[in-house]
Amino acid sequence: MTEYAESFTSDESEVLQELRRHCYEHYEDSSMLSGFYQGRLLSIISRMIRPRVVVEIGTYLGYSTLCLAEGLAPDGIVISLDINEETNRVAQSFIERTEYADRIHLRLGEAAFLLPHLENIYDLVFIDADKPNYSNYYNLVIDDVRPGGFIIADNVLWSGKVLAPGDDENAMALHEFNQMVQADERVSNVLLPVRDGLMVVCKLF
Ligand code: SAH
Ligand code: CA
Repeated sequence: MTEYAESFTSDESEVLQELRRHCYEHYEDSSMLSGFYQGRLLSIISRMIRPRVVVEIGTYLGYSTLCLAEGLAPDGIVISLDINEETNRVAQSFIERTEYADRIHLRLGEAAFLLPHLENIYDLVFIDADKPNYSNYYNLVIDDVRPGGFIIADNVLWSGKVLAPGDDENAMALHEFNQMVQADERVSNVLLPVRDGLMVVCKLF
């Protein structure tokens, strides 16, 4: 069914395909990259929202960044945060080959430090950095998400380990994050069991 679903999903751009290949060949942690199917989902969600401001927490090689950029409003921007200088340089080099080059702004540093300095109102936030900080990131952005805007958090199923976190620090943090979102009366949310789990959150009016 996964293969069938992928075969009836639009192709990604050549730059994205090359970026994915580059990642699989040169990075041991390549499973962090969103991948083809989730990338197309992020792209089409962005096209539904037509965001003016997207904030991404966790750029890695810029794959999801570029997918999210595909739905931007004409004057829209993506601000993407990451702490890794090396992957940031690679991300920038791929981004520069696309039509989104001047609408994607990469910021290097600790996300929890950078977020309070952003002055925009967000239409869409993609949380995908260090898992123990998910709740922290959520609390740092929620007031600046416009009513009707969205937060999407990746890996919230953590390979199923959220069902029985044991002493797995990431699984515990993600389960607590899911519980926090579920209890938050300011939002409406749905957990999509796509790939490693996407928590999709809409801030209510
Ligand atoms: N969104 C990307 C994958 C992100 S991987 C995609 O889907 O393709 C997670 C990224 O979070 C890594 O690049 C890592 O450097 C970054 N990260 C980890 N801890 C961070 C922190 N404290 N602040 C900012 N970025 C962090
Ligand atoms: Ca991820």
